[in-house]
Amino acid sequence: MQTPNIVFILLGGNIEPRLKLMADAKLEIEKEVGDLLMESSIYESEAWGFKTDTSFFNQVLKVATVKDANEVLESAMEIETKLGRLRNENSEYSSRTMDIDILYFNSEIIDEAELTVPHPRLHLRGFTLMPLVEIAPDFIHPLLEKSNDELLQICNDKGNAQRLN
Ligand code: ADP
Ligand code: MG
Repeated sequence: MQTPNIVFILLGGNIEPRLKLMADAKLEIEKEVGDLLMESSIYESEAWGFKTDTSFFNQVLKVATVKDANEVLESAMEIETKLGRLRNENSEYSSRTMDIDILYFNSEIIDEAELTVPHPRLHLRGFTLMPLVEIAPDFIHPLLEKSNDELLQICNDKGNAQRLN
């Protein structure tokens, strides 16, 4: 049997029902992407870069998949649409029912028009690093050559995110 790829996925959303949408996204990922190996707690944080009444929930999943990175991205976008996400063409940051980002794909470095891996902002955001450190503290960022734990220690955005459960 083919060795599966290991992908770390970030779920995020700030439109109710936030918890149900996270649970639904997880089920869809298990159906469409692969086996759920680990999941972090859910973290709550204020929106990044814009004002909103509802805070964001974020969670990191570690998934084993036989799909390649582009196929995982395609599945992620289909799941976003299925869960009711409307894409706002005008602004970079906006409210969303479900955002599904690829953080790491094995230790691959991908720099394509539609896909950048590792995710280019993962080391800047407490709401990404805190759940990542919970399930993969020693995993090394292949470009920055630091562990998730080290990246969290030097991150300036730690105050915002709080563990929910
Ligand atoms: P963001 O997640 O940056 O807030 P979107 O979810 O609207 O914004 O994604 C915009 C585009 O980002 C997607 O159409 C996708 O092609 C691209 N993209 C590039 N790298 C990644 C990645 N690592 N994970 C998810 N999407 C990515
Ligand atoms: Mg996204």
